Amino acid sequence: MNVIGFIGIGNMGAPMAANIARAGFAVRVFDADRARAAAFVAGLDPLVAAQTRAASSLAELAAACQVVITMLPTGDIVRDVLLTDEDGALAAGLAPGSLVIDMSSSDPTGTRALGARLRERGITLLDAPVSGLVPRARTGTLTIMLGGDDEAALARAEPVLRAMGERVFRVGPLGCGHAMKALNNVVAATAFTVTAEALIVGQRFGLDPAVMNEVLKVSSGRTFHADTSFPDQVLTRRFASGFTLGLLAKDVGIAGGLADDIGAQTPVMQLVRRLWAEGRDELGPGEDNSAIVRRWERINGVTLQPQRKGD
Ligand code: NAD
Repeated sequence: MNVIGFIGIGNMGAPMAANIARAGFAVRVFDADRARAAAFVAGLDPLVAAQTRAASSLAELAAACQVVITMLPTGDIVRDVLLTDEDGALAAGLAPGSLVIDMSSSDPTGTRALGARLRERGITLLDAPVSGLVPRARTGTLTIMLGGDDEAALARAEPVLRAMGERVFRVGPLGCGHAMKALNNVVAATAFTVTAEALIVGQRFGLDPAVMNEVLKVSSGRTFHADTSFPDQVLTRRFASGFTLGLLAKDVGIAGGLADDIGAQTPVMQLVRRLWAEGRDELGPGEDNSAIVRRWERINGVTLQPQRKGD
């Protein structure tokens, strides 16, 4: 059986790689933070750890694997790892016929360019970004948006993707997965933004934001954020969803850039792109994405605070 290489053992990559090993695949992991990769393997339960190893370099991983998954912060980093990383570019070590599946939320135009570069070396690239945050990465129930039109490669990827995801959508040729992911996230960021604004306006008028959120959950204003982000992260002041502000601002920027590239008029998308870039610049890219609310609270002189406790 193929050994699966997994690069990027972060918030998402760690539980995803663990699920691949749990499904019975042999796995080699690599992370620029070597200690993180070592701690990941050490923390696995013994049966899963037996078939999982940390590679000491990209070259070692490339020599052992013909299917490699990347789960890295940006498409630029994915391209760097494959083509120019000083550790020894991954692509140089991969055998012709290898398959690379980029599950990061990368930019679709860069993905197509990378696919062409890899094709010259006989390596196939698929894009398979995910939605579902860390909890669904843990339970192996992610939504996966699969891009690519090489049928053999898509079929080869499918069993590995099934180890991580509940729904695998074939969304079109290479790059379509990444486009779909950015467009999903700009919809999500827009809904989050306007929900925050509505709660701020409501609280200033005298409404309880916790009650407002309960109403939203069973009304036409319902979104994922009323179900999850506001009750779990914002109203509790936890701000710990496991998805950083820098990464979500990046996704919204990709969606806005894609719209610009194809000449679409998208005033809402461009506004949301600006708001999230400003939030990232004020609060820092490492903050949780839900903490962007703090900026809008500051501007409006209000802190969202439930008035009723325990109901
Ligand atoms: P993260 O920052 O937690 O993890 C990224 C990992 O990549 C880190 O361990 C880092 O050390 C490693 N890394 C960085 N540069 C590297 C390099 N050059 N070589 C090897 N390793 C390198 O990020 P994350 O939250 O796991 O997100 C990963 C991707 O998934 C991003 O594209 C993000 O937008 C996307 N995503 C995240 C979530 C989420 O909830 N966190 C959900 C869906 C999609």
